[in-house]
Amino acid sequence: MSIIAGRTGNMTIVGGMELHLWFIEDEPPGMALALKVKGTVHREKTDYQDLAVIETVDAGRALVLDGCIQTSDMDEFIYHEMMVHVPLCTHPLPEKILVIGGGDGGGIREILKHDSVKKAVLAEIDERVIAAAKKYLPNTSCKLDDPRCQVMIGDGFEHVRAHQREYDVILCDSTDPIGPGVVLFTEEFYRGIYNALKDDGICVAQTESPFFYGDLLARVSGALKGIFPIVKTYVTVMPTYPGALWTFTLASKKYDPVESMRVVDLETKYYTPELHKASFVLPRMVKDIVEA
Ligand code: SAM
Repeated sequence: MSIIAGRTGNMTIVGGMELHLWFIEDEPPGMALALKVKGTVHREKTDYQDLAVIETVDAGRALVLDGCIQTSDMDEFIYHEMMVHVPLCTHPLPEKILVIGGGDGGGIREILKHDSVKKAVLAEIDERVIAAAKKYLPNTSCKLDDPRCQVMIGDGFEHVRAHQREYDVILCDSTDPIGPGVVLFTEEFYRGIYNALKDDGICVAQTESPFFYGDLLARVSGALKGIFPIVKTYVTVMPTYPGALWTFTLASKKYDPVESMRVVDLETKYYTPELHKASFVLPRMVKDIVEA
């Protein structure tokens, strides 16, 4: 028998009856994702957010910020491979890359699979996320101490404002548009990204669920289209994110992500060159949102 009993905890026996505890994410509020948990590995209140690492029964460990799953051992590779390899296999020579947010380190791990990359900068506002990822999520954070990776603790918005024509690729691996993540979904921020990119640079932003954040996807896509000549949304599947169907939006100064795709020899579990191209074939409902 399973009883939904709260956000984190262990299985207990009460009066001979097994009570299983579940982590429940009810954001958006009208639908819940539930993962059966073995226990809470770590929990703290940082300067920016409530941070927890939970040990789940089927999805391995998961990083939870303000009650929302950011990454889980089970499916993080899908998100990180699709966020990173699509732009890096579009740019002909990606050498200097910026990740905004992304303190779990999964994006950095994938970026450093590309031999062309000389430097990958991580601009993460919350150093406690990096510390927790290093300690509790070793598979995801394993490249954060690589000599090609430079970790900068601070606001990603300020970071792009302070850099001009410096990066080949910028990835916005942000939390949902709440708390410190709000600024990372504004037009002013995208203008800063445009200026921080070299003349043939590419940006990818995670643009959330088309079911629950369709208005945000439409707004971000519209804002990017007013700044970059090439803007295309692509989709993937993320079992531990609300609605499972997930979107990224790529904005490019020069290279089209389908026509300019390079086949790169990479060790991946999800990304393939075929999937790279196929992910830009949009379901009607997503097409309607981004073309509105
Ligand atoms: N893959 C995840 C998702 O879509 O749910 C995002 C993961 S990553 C952990 C998100 C990170 O963005 C968090 O660690 C958070 O601290 C960071 N973040 C939020 N706002 C930020 C800002 N203004 N500048 C830099 N990092 C920020």
